[in-house]
Amino acid sequence: MTARRIVLLGPPGSGKGTQAVRLAEALGVPHISTGDLLRSEVQNRTALGLQAQRFIDKGELVPDQLVAEMIKQRLQGMTGFVLDGFPRNLKQAQILEGVTEVERVLHFRLDREEIVRRLSARRVCPQCGRVYNLLSSPPQRDAVCDLCGVALVQRTDDTPEVIQKRIDVQYAREIGPMLEFYSARSVLREIDAHGDIETVYGAARRALE
Ligand code: AMP
Repeated sequence: MTARRIVLLGPPGSGKGTQAVRLAEALGVPHISTGDLLRSEVQNRTALGLQAQRFIDKGELVPDQLVAEMIKQRLQGMTGFVLDGFPRNLKQAQILEGVTEVERVLHFRLDREEIVRRLSARRVCPQCGRVYNLLSSPPQRDAVCDLCGVALVQRTDDTPEVIQKRIDVQYAREIGPMLEFYSARSVLREIDAHGDIETVYGAARRALE
């Protein structure tokens, strides 16, 4: 049986967002990205968005209780999902366990050098949110969204300093305890994220069986 309550873990730039979209579509379950949810709160200038923005801009984690409330609401009544960007630390993993039973956790592994290379080349469409990479999946026309024709932008947190901080503060420091947590529950699978999108997708699909 294919798992349907899925969590993706990995450093920023490991391609987990791209894979999350594809997996969710293939399995017919929603793709839930806390980064996307938070950016939308920021864009709409909600109370949560206003509180979250300064953490996002600095490359720090938004406080657990803010994100937990948001994700609890989003997951209510859901029997399947691909979670991308949550949990980010052990505390969030424990919170998630109180809300739903995760069936499979995929950990995308990627070298630091490659993370920085990929994130520096990332561009997004400010209108539809589609993500491009100037090196591996560039738009058809220079720096313009294939779907909207709008000029692509760089995320404000994809600058070299903030990238380094996101790797250290959000990933390197937090990943170990989460891997232990999920490994103890026998739901963890490791995915080598260095390959191209198709190769990594194949590995992810196999890991869900
Ligand atoms: P992402 O798009 O997943 O890279 O997330 C962008 C930013 O949103 C992160 O750098 C954090 O500041 C914030 N964020 C996303 N998910 C979480 C989370 N689960 N907990 C705390 N902060 C988060």
